[in-house]
Amino acid sequence: MEIHFEIGNQCLLKCRHCSSMASELKEQKKYPEQDMIQLIKSIEGKKDIYLTGGEPLLYTNLDRMLNNLRIQISDIRLGMFTTGIVWDSGEARSISEEYAGKLADCDLKVCYLSVYSHLEQEHDWMTRLQGSYKMLNESICHLQAVGIETRFNSVVTRKNMFYFNDIIEFAENIGITEVRILKLIKHGRAKECWDEIGVTEQYYKNVIRNALKRKNKLRITASGAIDMLSCRNDCKRNICPAGAELIYVVNNGDIFPCASVKKKAEYKIGNIGEIDIVKKWYMFQTELNGEMLC
Ligand code: SF4
Repeated sequence: MEIHFEIGNQCLLKCRHCSSMASELKEQKKYPEQDMIQLIKSIEGKKDIYLTGGEPLLYTNLDRMLNNLRIQISDIRLGMFTTGIVWDSGEARSISEEYAGKLADCDLKVCYLSVYSHLEQEHDWMTRLQGSYKMLNESICHLQAVGIETRFNSVVTRKNMFYFNDIIEFAENIGITEVRILKLIKHGRAKECWDEIGVTEQYYKNVIRNALKRKNKLRITASGAIDMLSCRNDCKRNICPAGAELIYVVNNGDIFPCASVKKKAEYKIGNIGEIDIVKKWYMFQTELNGEMLC
């Protein structure tokens, strides 16, 4: 079971595909940590907890939060979705080995890093921050050096769709354990940039098809194509895990079955602060039939 928590919507990058419009926003999460802990504890079984944003590394007292989760809850594995870029001494920087060590000490086990290309220029074009590719690569080295598992989270765009397998090869060469292929969702900034980066369903599926033709030495997962590939590790093919094996908590505490439908009010399960939220989630599950929501 995966539970994702947005813990702030600020980000240092201005990625062209960003559905959250992070970077114009500067808010930290609006729900208390205690609600987070209560929700996690009330869901049975082993849980993978992912912090996301915006950029979770910008959250004030991130290490204190990770430690608190680690100490208060026993059956969890902590992870993060990150750009690999922090704000340090007044500028954007990579995660230093020292800070990576601190995160590892807090029991952070895995990071999904947003990677848009194996080419510096293309990656920086997407993030609109010169130097972001170099910083990302440094962060990956430092995370790996302290034993944190590194995975790629790579959205398919019109820019990278013809060389996506090169991104996978790059990942293999630097010790990445999974490439997660992401379907671009026409939300937020992606909507504004659709003419530059938008891809059709057919092209998206071609990217997955080509990726599966390789002799991959790492795991490949893909969102939004469960007929071809399971959406997440441990999930069955042809069954969408949203709402059953996955829930997503947005910055204001509202809970959705998956990030891909977080802007769709009809999919809201409830709010983390509600006393009967777990009951509401169980009710929501009865309406699911395994079809993709995205
Ligand atoms: S809706 Fe289902 S298939 Fe689509 S991204 Fe979410 S979990 Fe994956």
